[in-house]
Amino acid sequence: MAKDTLHRDVVIIGSGPAGLTAAIYAARADLKPLVIEGPQPGGQLTITTDVENYPGFSKGIQGPELMEEFREQAARFGTEFLTTWINTADLSKRPFTLHTEDHEIKAETLIIAAGASAKWLGIPGEAPAPEGLGGYGVSACATCDGFFFKGKPLVVVGGGDTAMEEATFLTRYASRITLIHRRDSLRASKIMQEKAFANPKIDFMWNTDVKEILGSKETGVTGVKLSNNQTGEESEFPCEGVFIAIGHKPNTDLFKGQLEMDEVGYLKTAGHSMATNIPGVFACGDAQDSVYRQAVTAAGTGCMAAIDAERFLDSLPVLVPTGEEVTMEGERVSADHESITMPDGEVISNKPDESEAAHGD
Ligand code: NDP
Repeated sequence: MAKDTLHRDVVIIGSGPAGLTAAIYAARADLKPLVIEGPQPGGQLTITTDVENYPGFSKGIQGPELMEEFREQAARFGTEFLTTWINTADLSKRPFTLHTEDHEIKAETLIIAAGASAKWLGIPGEAPAPEGLGGYGVSACATCDGFFFKGKPLVVVGGGDTAMEEATFLTRYASRITLIHRRDSLRASKIMQEKAFANPKIDFMWNTDVKEILGSKETGVTGVKLSNNQTGEESEFPCEGVFIAIGHKPNTDLFKGQLEMDEVGYLKTAGHSMATNIPGVFACGDAQDSVYRQAVTAAGTGCMAAIDAERFLDSLPVLVPTGEEVTMEGERVSADHESITMPDGEVISNKPDESEAAHGD
């Protein structure tokens, strides 16, 4: 069966704070953006609870509620949504082409706001069933799965803010939490550490690597195999659930070999713009930002990406990572602004006096 072909000026991949903010701006600029949402519409905030640091909500707001507001705002100005999985992306020429099971999507500009996903340890027992015990007591989302562990002893792995948040949240349900960390000090912010240390239901186990998750589909998780990385001592520790909370990885595998990214997979953009190495492709949010990774910074970079895409579609120059500025037509303004290389290779001066003289001829 032939695929439906869609052709849009602005296609946004991802519907977290970055993607939906880009959509709000692009929609208000009358660019009728198409937002493609993947397996987790609304992004990571939909699996969190209280958001207390998003400006404008003095009493805090629930993550899913905040994302619903973003979405309604984007829809109000004419954003179109498509829930699907993108199989391939061809960025070799404009319009760029995305293939899904049912659609071929052509994009004059592409904004990648695909976010990040939970990282895993890569140990036996961790994978989703049937290979491992994922779904049978192993999870990376306390908000999603905590409810199933009422009165049970649990292990949380990690030493950052996510681990503190997951452990603290899980004390609502669990009989006891043991937080296992590979070093003897936490990476988490002071306030999150203090909340976890003060919680009588949370114990800490230091300098310890989790080597395997034990159990079966019949019993669920029964324990973890541990190794003390200072003494080499191996042991088994009983528990009935394991939450992995060791950070996230950007969802950018689709663009490997086409877009410049760092060794972890964060997309590289120009200093003062969200432009990637391919003119017309912009990146924002957790797919691009390895440093701040906050909802509000994701929203900020989403706004920037949309403004960059608008400029590009207006044939205005947009800064790219080489320091040059490029237009949709392929003109390249040198980093020092002295010259312009035309699409046919001709180099002309970009100095205002010379162009005025040229006009005077
Ligand atoms: P981080 O990268 O900050 O922390 C990851 C933790 O997992 C580290 O302690 C790290 O250990 C450990 N770790 C990583 N890989 C492994 C591994 N293979 N085996 C064992 N342990 C491992 O990620 P987070 O997700 O915690 O936080 C990301 C960002 O999001 C931070 O900026 C954080 O502040 C923010 N955040 C804020 C929240 C809030 O304010 N409510 C909630 C959650 C996150 P090591 O320390 O040894 O490197």
